[in-house]
Amino acid sequence: MTMVHDPYEEAKKQLRQTIELLGLGEEVYEVLSVPERLLQVRLPVKMDDGTVKVFIAWRSQHNSALGPYKGGVRYHPETNAHEVIALSMWMTWKNSLAGLPYGGGKGGIRVDPHKLSPGELERLSKAYFEAISDIVGPDQDIPAPDVYTNPQVMAWFLDAYSRVKRGQYLAVVTGKPLELGGMQTRIIATGYGTAVSAREVAKKLWGGIEGKTVAVQGYGNAGYYAAKTLHEMGAKVVAISDSKGGIYNPDGLDPDEVKKVKNETGSVINYPKAVKKLTNEELLELEVDVLVPAAIENVITEANADKIKAKLIVEAANGPTTPEAEAILTKKGIIVVPDILANAGGVIMSHIEWVNNRMGGWITEEEAKSRLEQKMINNTIKVWDYWQKKLDTSKYNMRAAAYAIAVDRVVRAMKLRGWI
Ligand code: GLU
Repeated sequence: MTMVHDPYEEAKKQLRQTIELLGLGEEVYEVLSVPERLLQVRLPVKMDDGTVKVFIAWRSQHNSALGPYKGGVRYHPETNAHEVIALSMWMTWKNSLAGLPYGGGKGGIRVDPHKLSPGELERLSKAYFEAISDIVGPDQDIPAPDVYTNPQVMAWFLDAYSRVKRGQYLAVVTGKPLELGGMQTRIIATGYGTAVSAREVAKKLWGGIEGKTVAVQGYGNAGYYAAKTLHEMGAKVVAISDSKGGIYNPDGLDPDEVKKVKNETGSVINYPKAVKKLTNEELLELEVDVLVPAAIENVITEANADKIKAKLIVEAANGPTTPEAEAILTKKGIIVVPDILANAGGVIMSHIEWVNNRMGGWITEEEAKSRLEQKMINNTIKVWDYWQKKLDTSKYNMRAAAYAIAVDRVVRAMKLRGWI
């Protein structure tokens, strides 16, 4: 996808709007519109054929007023410094809104991981973590998975850190494999949380999610578990897409069967029981009750917002809707459950994993899942109530309420510390 929209510009616009809404001073914008620290590293990696390739990578630490930086690392061929900065800012708001003791951070390596062998990927991952090891740590900055990274990559990160620091610090990364202090629930957490958030808003709008039609754009970890959980809750998932295209069946798709086909053939488009194939653009414009963008930034823009027919958009991806598009959606009465609320399940579960590591492994999976669900319910209600009671809902969407709560908490922490 070409970068017509700069996510950092979008993130700054959202911050500006919130500062105006809350009546805060210019110094707040000055402090929060730029990350506290941005580290760029170049990583020479020996490839299997003996040549050396140099990769460029970043870690952005946006704000630490509430605690150590926390957020994932993405491997993507088009990632860049501005994208990573925007994602780290969104993590600050996400962590704040969820009531976690974390600031916001994010990392990225510009690479197409599908083109590397497992050995090359291991050497690249360890080189990255070694290069950023001075600024991360269980009480400094705690990375986790994001787009195209997974528990195996976290295991390599942990190992690289252990070698540099000569000790075992399990809590330096989350989203780890179970053998290394990870938790089962972390795998499903983002998509599961998105479904819980969608269900809570659906209860307010329609009395429940049962029988409601859903389209899911993007079928990675977040998209798959969102579709699966919504299906289990009784919603009807009628369309699913990935980077190669989408499929549609008005009678409903089985998310597990679709996932199996994607795993076996490389894409959902090979699913035999679809009545129609769709482009990603067509999927976004379908006549459904709920649309779940679960891929990357800037897919709902001023170019297509007018054509969106869903009544409710629940953002499993980070930054899928531009501010210009949101203004159009709000005017049309389409409700947006924003990313910093709807996809917080991942980092909420990361926090439980981090606490568990520091307690020497005490929390059961059952306890973890019920805590995650409860937190998603509480957060959704908190944002909904703020939106309904404190804002003009014809002018502001749920994002404005989520941002108001999140930015306010960070600002209060900064005041207490004497930063502003
Ligand atoms: N990458 C995920 C996100 O965007 C999870 C971050 C984490 O668990 O620290 O929220």
